[in-house]
Amino acid sequence: METILSLKNLDKKYGAVHAVNNLSFDIQKGNVYGILGPNGSGKSTTLGIILNVVNRTSGEFSWFNGNLSTHEALKKVGAIIERPNFYPYMTATQNLALICKIKGISTEKIDEKLQTVNLFERRNSKFSTFSLGMKQRLAIASALLNDPEILILDEPTNGLDPQGIHEIRQIIKKIAANGTTILLASHLLDEVEKVCSHVVVIRKGIKLYAGRVDEMTASKGLLELKIDTNEAELIQLLENHPAILKVTKDHETIIATLNSEISATEINQFLFNKGFVLSHLVKRKPSLEQQFLDLTNNN
Ligand code: ADP
Ligand code: MG
Repeated sequence: METILSLKNLDKKYGAVHAVNNLSFDIQKGNVYGILGPNGSGKSTTLGIILNVVNRTSGEFSWFNGNLSTHEALKKVGAIIERPNFYPYMTATQNLALICKIKGISTEKIDEKLQTVNLFERRNSKFSTFSLGMKQRLAIASALLNDPEILILDEPTNGLDPQGIHEIRQIIKKIAANGTTILLASHLLDEVEKVCSHVVVIRKGIKLYAGRVDEMTASKGLLELKIDTNEAELIQLLENHPAILKVTKDHETIIATLNSEISATEINQFLFNKGFVLSHLVKRKPSLEQQFLDLTNNN
C-alpha cells in the first residue's frame, strides 16, 4: 500500500478553541476517505493545515512519505476548500483555460475534465448561466486539470438540491473508480456512507473512529428486552454476561449492546433457565446513523 498522506498528532488551537486535537490518520492510495463530523468539529481546519493555508499549532503531516517538499507535493493535489472564483462572463472552457495559464499547466486536459463532470455539452455557456450544481462541477473539473494523485473536497454537496447532490456524488465515485484517491469532509453521514470506503469520525477535533465504512457498520448488534417484574435483577444478570458489552435503558426497554455473536434464542434460553420470563425480546443491528450518534454524542 502506498501512503499518500500521513497526519501525526496534529493540533490546532485558535485561542481557547481546540479545533484539531492530537489527530492522526493515514491516507492510502486508491481509497475514498470521508472526514465525518458535526459542524465545528475541525474538518475544514484539518484540510486547511494539510493544504498549507492554515498553520498548525503542533504535530506533523507528510505528503507522499515525505519524499517531496510540501510545495512540490501540493502540485500533485487537487483541492476545493472554498468556492472558487470563476469569471461570470467567461465560458466554462475559457475559465478553465485561464486557470491552466495561472497554474502553468497545459490546456490539453480541459475537454476530458469537462466530460468527467458532465459539462462538456455546456462548455461554451457562460459561467453566469450555470446552476449551483454546475458551478460546483466546474470547480471539480478545475481541481482535476493537473491529473492530481488526490482530490480533496470540503462539503462538496453543501447547498445543492437533491438532483445536484446526486450528480456530484456520482461524479466523485467516477473519479475514484479511475484511480484517483479522494479525501472529502462532510457533516452528512449518508454522504460518507454512499461515497466513501473509509471514514475518520471526529468531534471537537478529536478522532473517535477511523477505519472502513463497512467495518463501522459490522457491529455485533443489540438486544431489546422487556420484563414485567425483577427488572433490576435482570439488568444485573445481563451486565455480567460475557457476550454483553453494556446495558442501558430506553423508557421501558432494556438495551443490551453485544460484544460477540449470540442469538436471541440462546439469550432467551439462558435467561429462562435463570428464572426470567421476558415479555419482549428482539435482536437488531444498530443503523450506521445510530452508531454515528453514539460516537458523536456519548463522548
Ligand atoms: P468544521 O469544518 O468541521 O465545521 P472548522 O474546522 O471550520 O470545523 O472549525 C473548527 C473550530 O474552529 C470551530 O469551533 C470554529 O469556530 C473554530 N475556527 C475555525 N476557523 C477559525 C478561525 N479562523 N479563527 C477562530 N476560530 C476558528
Ligand atoms: Mg467546514
